Amino acid sequence: MNISSLVDFWKSGGERASIRARWVFPGVGPPLENGTVEITAGRIAAVHDRVGPVTCDLGNAAVIPGLVNAHTHLELSDVQAPLGPAHLFTTWLQQVMAHRRDRVATAAPGAAPPGVQAVVAGRSESTRLGTTTLGDIVSESAPAEVASDSQPHTVAFLELLGLAPERQAAQLARACEHLTAGGSLVRGLSPHAPYSVHPDLLRGAVDLAVVYRAPVAMHLAETEAELELLKSGSGEFVEFLERLGVWRAAVIPRGSRPLDSLRELARAERALAIHGNYLDDDEIEFLAAHPSISVVYCPRTHAYFGHAPHPWRKLLGRGINVAIGTDSRASNPDLSLFAELQFLRRLAPDFDPARLLQLGTIGSAAALGIERETGSLEAGKSADLAIVALPEASGCDPYSLLFDPAAHVVATLISGRLP
Ligand SMILES: [Zn+2]
Repeated sequence: MNISSLVDFWKSGGERASIRARWVFPGVGPPLENGTVEITAGRIAAVHDRVGPVTCDLGNAAVIPGLVNAHTHLELSDVQAPLGPAHLFTTWLQQVMAHRRDRVATAAPGAAPPGVQAVVAGRSESTRLGTTTLGDIVSESAPAEVASDSQPHTVAFLELLGLAPERQAAQLARACEHLTAGGSLVRGLSPHAPYSVHPDLLRGAVDLAVVYRAPVAMHLAETEAELELLKSGSGEFVEFLERLGVWRAAVIPRGSRPLDSLRELARAERALAIHGNYLDDDEIEFLAAHPSISVVYCPRTHAYFGHAPHPWRKLLGRGINVAIGTDSRASNPDLSLFAELQFLRRLAPDFDPARLLQLGTIGSAAALGIERETGSLEAGKSADLAIVALPEASGCDPYSLLFDPAAHVVATLISGRLP
């Protein structure tokens, strides 16, 4: 496959390019054999299969919409391999906290803070693997600011934590500061999870999100232990939070459930229920009636923790938007959204592959509220695309080629440029 002409074109600073490939998958409508994507000034000018001269003929490759990773924590991109053990969630959480502590203790004097270095590394890994947009949970605004035009588009969700009522004012002040800071990022809020956020803090965060029309992402229905804590105020989370000295028994009323959080999230213009591994039928019905909330499924992270089967197909069947995320490298060997889709293809070979591609592109973009800007190859949108080297095979179904285990991302364009 020939991408050198693309590199040459980019280096020459050209404003217009046309890229042809064996298959172009616009993400809406059918794939185009020997299709061409025309790019002008960083935006898609046209997608077609007409014959004619092109700037770059990629040969045996696919052009797909840039992948959208709807949920990650780039601050943990310096984790070399998934942390363990995975069978006890709170022990895993402790390992994550220890990782953050240790890297600060061992940081070289004068170097950029380890969290910032991890964000930079995670961005670079993501773009190398075909991702052009990220929904990133950030514990502070500053690392998220490390951006330039050719970095992946980022929706930065500021993480809010605290069961203690006295922490609320400070958390909401941080949230307000984040939402009003400006810059090229899309800004959102992430009240962390029902077991780590006072119900009033969640309410206050959604109030702010409503005022600033910001998206809200919350880890929800992730583990059975979370459901136990909400229902009866017991279980491994209570021990974990007690050890940290932050457990407040009176804060979460007995008999609570993820549905209570969904009711709050439904007030925001866009909300993301992260994971949703253990949503019950009532909650799925509620989601079906509230299309502003998407569920983000993180397939390989879900498998890593050995959860019960994820209800993603049931959700889709009820018309609920399902987005795809990698989560962080603390529970995933890499940040490849393409690998998530290939994993799902193996997990559910009977699932419509056209829809599968949409989950990781336009579906994830819709979850983040930026589907008019990116997520499909359509005239007028940002020229965000991934180039996939296809296996050598003739006369094959295009989706079988695209999701073949040997297919892999070789280049990424963000706003028409190689990052
Ligand atoms: Zn997460």
